[in-house]
Amino acid sequence: MDLYEHQARELFKGYGIAVPDAAVVDHPREARHAAELLGGRVVVKAQVKTGGRGKAGGVKLAADPAAAEITARQILGMDIKGHTVRRVMLAQPVDIQDEFYASYVLDRAAGTFLAIASAEGGMDIEEVAATRPEAVARIPVDPAEGVTEAKAAEIAAAAGLPAEAAGALRRLWEVLVREDALLVEVNPLVRTAQGAILALDGKVTIDDNAVFRQARWGETPDAPAAEADPLEAAARARGLNYVKLDGEVGIIGNGAGLVMSTLDVVAGRGARPANFLDIGGGASAQVMADGLDVILSDPEVRAVLVNVFGGITACDAVAEGIVQALESVHLTKPLVVRLDGNSAARGRAILDARAHPLVEQVTTMDGAAARAAQLATR
Ligand code: GDP
Ligand code: MN
Repeated sequence: MDLYEHQARELFKGYGIAVPDAAVVDHPREARHAAELLGGRVVVKAQVKTGGRGKAGGVKLAADPAAAEITARQILGMDIKGHTVRRVMLAQPVDIQDEFYASYVLDRAAGTFLAIASAEGGMDIEEVAATRPEAVARIPVDPAEGVTEAKAAEIAAAAGLPAEAAGALRRLWEVLVREDALLVEVNPLVRTAQGAILALDGKVTIDDNAVFRQARWGETPDAPAAEADPLEAAARARGLNYVKLDGEVGIIGNGAGLVMSTLDVVAGRGARPANFLDIGGGASAQVMADGLDVILSDPEVRAVLVNVFGGITACDAVAEGIVQALESVHLTKPLVVRLDGNSAARGRAILDARAHPLVEQVTTMDGAAARAAQLATR
């Protein structure tokens, strides 16, 4: 879950990282009032969970409260990369001398955290990184050691940041650790004409697996782009691990690895998978019913393949789940079921006894995929 800039700013402040005074409003008239309280001159900033706001016209300086109202009116409602601006943050302008870039990110490939920093921060950091990678320092951070004073000094020196920036680097690491973040990014981290170091922007991504203990952020009000698909939204509402694809064979399996290989085998048989759906270990009747319901409501789906390898979950429980799901879900498309592993024979017997005209069993994964592909493309 990404945080808004104003939320990241609150966090930073709580960890002793200097940030400009600011207020968040959702109406132009409130912007005028807030600007008055902030001293008149303000930077008006779109609050959307995407970068590049500056280049899109979502960050503007207003000379006085009247201008703040006009600017807020322009920015509110603006569309920035598909995100509608519903709130703006007004911040006291800062007299910038240098703009730096600083972030910590989980580097899954390297199995560690990475500090990324550059003395050439600001709106063109992507271009700097692409054209002059040597201007961007990338330093691994061992999570067991963390960012000590010495480590912060090392990062600052490698990136060409002033030694005074080390304190902010150390605190940003604390934010990452204590807030369960996968990414903490400040661009720009600035040095003012007076020599102070301030965070002028902030992006924080909280690990979704830790959202339960970071509950103060609540539910994200704007759904991420990945949920723009109504089927994915429906699946998510039911707690299903579902990804919409654009083929014609609906897929249900247990375990992410098995489901992914099922997609491959179906593709190998000349059909296209319609989705990824991992029902996990439980495979209760309810989960099976919910999964079938979502998949059958996909108009592209022409056949459904259930591929379960019973491990801890026994196949007879899965078969019972399918039988119960058939009570509540109106099956309109052929369902090919492959059960193997723990209690497979009992599971198959249960489905045979149910004898639903649209349900077929095939004992091998490859055979089941071939049959589902055939039914979906005939
Ligand atoms: P982004 O484009 O979405 O990353 O938005 P930023 O918050 O980083 O703002 C874009 C740019 O606006 C920054 O790189 C700064 O150059 C500038 N900016 C942001 N806040 C201030 C401020 O308080 N004072 C001044 N002078 N410039 C600012
Ligand atoms: Mn920025």
